[in-house]
Amino acid sequence: MRRMLLLLLLLVQAVPAFSQSIRYSVAMPQPSSHVFRIEITIDHPGITPVELRLPVWNGLYQVRDFSQFVQNLQANVPVKRVDKDTWRFSVGSDDLLKVTYGVFANEWGAFSSELNESHAFFNSADLLMMWPAKRSLPVELTVRPPAGWQVSTSLAPAGSPLTYKAENYDHLVDCPVDVGKLDTFTFVVNDVPFSISVDGNHREYDRTELQTMIQQIVRTETGFMNDIPVGKYTFLFHFNDGDRGSSGGMEHRDSTAIHTVFRGGRSVRTVAGVAAHEFFHLWNVKRIRPMGLEPVDYFKENYTTALWFSEGVTSYYGDLLLRRGGLLSRQEYLNALSEEIQALQSRAARKTQSAAESSLLTWYDKYDYYRQPDQSISYYNKGLLIGLLLDLRIRDASDNKFSLDTVIRHLNENYARKERLFEDDYGIARAIAEATGLNLDREYQSYVHTTEELPYAEVLRAAGLELNGSRIREVPNPTPRQKRILESWLTGR
Ligand SMILES: [Zn+2]
Repeated sequence: MRRMLLLLLLLVQAVPAFSQSIRYSVAMPQPSSHVFRIEITIDHPGITPVELRLPVWNGLYQVRDFSQFVQNLQANVPVKRVDKDTWRFSVGSDDLLKVTYGVFANEWGAFSSELNESHAFFNSADLLMMWPAKRSLPVELTVRPPAGWQVSTSLAPAGSPLTYKAENYDHLVDCPVDVGKLDTFTFVVNDVPFSISVDGNHREYDRTELQTMIQQIVRTETGFMNDIPVGKYTFLFHFNDGDRGSSGGMEHRDSTAIHTVFRGGRSVRTVAGVAAHEFFHLWNVKRIRPMGLEPVDYFKENYTTALWFSEGVTSYYGDLLLRRGGLLSRQEYLNALSEEIQALQSRAARKTQSAAESSLLTWYDKYDYYRQPDQSISYYNKGLLIGLLLDLRIRDASDNKFSLDTVIRHLNENYARKERLFEDDYGIARAIAEATGLNLDREYQSYVHTTEELPYAEVLRAAGLELNGSRIREVPNPTPRQKRILESWLTGR
């Protein structure tokens, strides 16, 4: 007994002595140089050599080769570059590996990283090398900002100031970090704290309007899903006056980063669409997720045919819930749908590329030639319209007992919350059948996997709507059933 006790004690003591950890530090000693100074410390690597790799893509479905921005890499042990993304460190019997390097970052927006005199923002996959052999190891990040700048991120604090912890590398890189003289707001919905931070250095905006609008979006969407799958959530906004590109957003596990260019005025109303879309990703794609996106391969493309659903149907619900939450009028909403129809019908490639194929080939979206109207369609655009058609088909076939709402909630309850992924090609058809008992396989096949024209007029009729060119309008004398479907669809009741 004694002996055994002693052995146990030895074991208990042995664990901390050899426990591995990865610590990252991101410093900004000279913001005007646009170069982040990175330090990686691995205690007790335990294996040699240690290979560290910088991802080639993250978030955005584009191979961007982040390693092209690495400079002046140094280590406390011999190092050899193995390929464009991989460095090999011969740690020998050393029980510490320390690596430092710089990364040039000067691209504004949610998809990239930026450092300048007034602001820093980073997606950690752009800057921080992964240790693929130890992908599941917990990691720590210390941010070292210039004096007077604040840090905003959804990462949890790790004890010491400006140090954060993540379950592993995947978690770390899914939590972007904003640094600067930030405006911050907070509010609470169903006991869950939400925070908003804004880098508004470059622009005056209506703070009250922003807070009210985001709160309304959060209330409407969490009410619709009847679920808040996180303990807290962070909105990171970058506002600009128009000298730097377009607008966009990137979804993350418990945050989103959104960049918007304004053209005159203090109103933030133009942010509503992207905020509603990104926040809906909290369920659709971050949790209701196709098999093709898991596990994330940071070093080559993940292929999926399901982005028409993960992105397009996210846009469908983003807009529809703005309508239901009162942030779009009925007419504004119908006009927005009309514009989507117009957009698809004006692209010749709708006759050659299906929604599923558009999703598969998203990796080409960075090329100008591929983006031409006769080469490709947008899975956001066609996916949104497929969402509309499936929704009205289900309402029509079930006498409005079921809808796409039933299906998305079913996916959340029976896939997301049970950590089940859906199958890329036909998983959504299957979920429709499971949730409603309806067989819409023929329609699903046609909309998603073929280039047949979408039957707008035929499907819209169920809700008492018709097409005048590509404009949607209400029919003059709707039947009670058409009225009932229209009201239920637009109000969610
Ligand atoms: Zn999206």
